Amino acid sequence: MDKKQVKRRIVLVPVPAQGHVTPIMQLGKALHSKGFSITVIQTQYNRVSSSQDFSDFQFLTIPGTLTDSDLKTLGALQFLMKLNEICEASFKHCLSQLLQEQGSGDDIACVIYDEYMYFSAAAPKEFQLPSVVFSTTNATAFVCRSVLAKVNADKFLIDMKDPEVQNSLFPGLDPLRYKDLPTSAFGTIEDIIKLYGEAVNTRTASAVIINSASCLESSSLSRLQLKLQVPVYPIGPLHIAASASSSLLEEDKSCIEWLNKQKPRTVIYISLGSLGRMETKDMLEMASGLSNSNQPFLWVIRPGSIPGSDWTESLPEEFSKLVSERGYIVKWAPQMEVLRNPAVGGFLSHCGWNSTLESIGEGVPMICRPITGDQKVNARYLESVWRIGVQLEGELVKETVERVVKRLIVDEEGADIRKRAIDLKEKVEASVRSGGSSCSSLHNFVNSLQTKSL
Ligand code: UDP
Repeated sequence: MDKKQVKRRIVLVPVPAQGHVTPIMQLGKALHSKGFSITVIQTQYNRVSSSQDFSDFQFLTIPGTLTDSDLKTLGALQFLMKLNEICEASFKHCLSQLLQEQGSGDDIACVIYDEYMYFSAAAPKEFQLPSVVFSTTNATAFVCRSVLAKVNADKFLIDMKDPEVQNSLFPGLDPLRYKDLPTSAFGTIEDIIKLYGEAVNTRTASAVIINSASCLESSSLSRLQLKLQVPVYPIGPLHIAASASSSLLEEDKSCIEWLNKQKPRTVIYISLGSLGRMETKDMLEMASGLSNSNQPFLWVIRPGSIPGSDWTESLPEEFSKLVSERGYIVKWAPQMEVLRNPAVGGFLSHCGWNSTLESIGEGVPMICRPITGDQKVNARYLESVWRIGVQLEGELVKETVERVVKRLIVDEEGADIRKRAIDLKEKVEASVRSGGSSCSSLHNFVNSLQTKSL
């Protein structure tokens, strides 16, 4: 890169949620290492700061707050839609100031926005800057969203209530069944169809970046490429290509000492991500099943993740007894370090895309307990496409928890799954190495910015 290009700036616009912040900040790191300056434009609801591994980044916050009553009553989907409504003008103002400060427009190379921050599309269009959509989920989920954005809500609702339909394959999305589609627990079907319609509308975008790799989902990537008619750059897994710590909660590293005392590949790590919640009844069934499996387990229980309780204080005494012998509980774990630890034999996960990629990247097989959205797509792929996971479906009961843990850690079947997980780990690692598909894709994206051909 020559001196003039070194000064080129990329503007990033993250969604204020851990699972979205993490990959976009990793993308920022990757692009910074290629010589770009990075400006992160955040809403009032983001909390990433320069102290978190990003001392060379510029952080700007745009005005725009929701009313207290909105914050209390809106579900997550409506919150996102409202945020998009109130931020469009302030983002435009912020971007125009940035352009003025820099004297001329040509040193902002592009605006890269999370697909759910679609308010960011209008300003670059007006200022004739390239805008790039960043998808923090995989290509298959993106394809599903574009299909769902067009379904008839009334008919789809009726279909989804029929158990037979739920278990049947959705036409054109094999191996996904109706029940695997990324509908949301955080809003109505009407809301999700509306939100997806906005998010997949990439008409003004010059390109789409996906945190995935062609070895994971080449056919969905090709399908997306055909559909979108702008370049699609699969450049993941970003946590391998450019690791950066952007944890919004404090990590409890004491669990690493505990893991170091456990036997290799025996521990089940349990986490439902940054938003997943579990009722008391399910907590008890899970604890019983884990205890009966006789395997050690490390369990992330986030404050506020048990309805009606600040942390675990509302759980009965029985819970503490069940976990005391073989379990270790933390409020938030250093997940990457945990998955890398040789003691970990399986990850019981909600299958968020970051957790899925992180587990794949460490060759750790998964027990899939998806809750909402694209997690269901990921779980289906883990079980039936990559075959490195087993689903824990239906009502949570201790017997099935015990069984699934034994299948993964003790049974011969588990050894086969682990072998496939190691094979896949090697493939994704190769994809981000020099000459690999994701590495080349990132190179092509950077090249398109340098040559201003985007
Ligand atoms: N995570 C973590 N510590 C925990 C639980 C989760 O650092 O105790 C991180 C995890 O490594 C991942 C992110 O939080 O990068 C969760 O993202 P994901 O897409 O898996 O799920 P979401 O939180 O968006 O549902």
